[in-house]
This record gives sequence, C-alpha cells and structure tokens, in this order.
Amino acid sequence: MDLEKLQLKCECKGMMKKTQLKWKGIEVRGWVCSKCKEELIHPEDAQKALNIEKARKKNALKVKLRKVGKSNVVTVPIAIMESENLKDGQQLEWSVEGKKLILLP
Ligand SMILES: [Zn+2]
Repeated sequence: MDLEKLQLKCECKGMMKKTQLKWKGIEVRGWVCSKCKEELIHPEDAQKALNIEKARKKNALKVKLRKVGKSNVVTVPIAIMESENLKDGQQLEWSVEGKKLILLP
C-alpha cells in the first residue's frame, strides 16, 4: 500500500494533508487534519522514531570524533544504520545548517 498517495480522511470527515511533524523530538512524516488539527504519524517514521528514542535513552546515539590519519571519524550508531537502511560502503554527504551537521544519504 502506498501511503504517500493515499487521500486520508479524518474521523471528523476533514481532509488530512501531508505534513512534517515533530514527534519525540524527531522529524517524522505525517498528516494533519485541516479541520480538527488531529495529527497522524507515518507508521514507518513512527517505528523509526521509536527506535531512535530507545537508542537515545541508552546513550547509543552519542559518538566521539576520532582522528584517523588526517581525517576525523564519527561512527554511525546501529539504530541509525537500521532505521535509515544504510549499508556498509554507502556514500554519504555532509551538509551544514546553522549549528546542525547533517549527513545525507
Ligand atoms: Zn479532523
């Protein structure tokens, strides 16, 4: 089932429109009702957010910069590898937004 193309209707009969939500401090895809503002989180992203939250509680998302040769290396926590389906050898690209460092697959 392709949830992206699904036209969702809220219980109040309002139309749900696609949006980005913040859940547990994590950006997730979802829908918001144009009438009652009820929010619905994309089930895939809900699962991701739960995994990331679990890892965060165990401090498993904290990594240290380590020097390897002339570069600095950061490790990618397993929770992120799994939630983002990252593979060994995959290319990632750094991006900087304000104070945030972003790794783009
Ligand atoms: Zn509604």
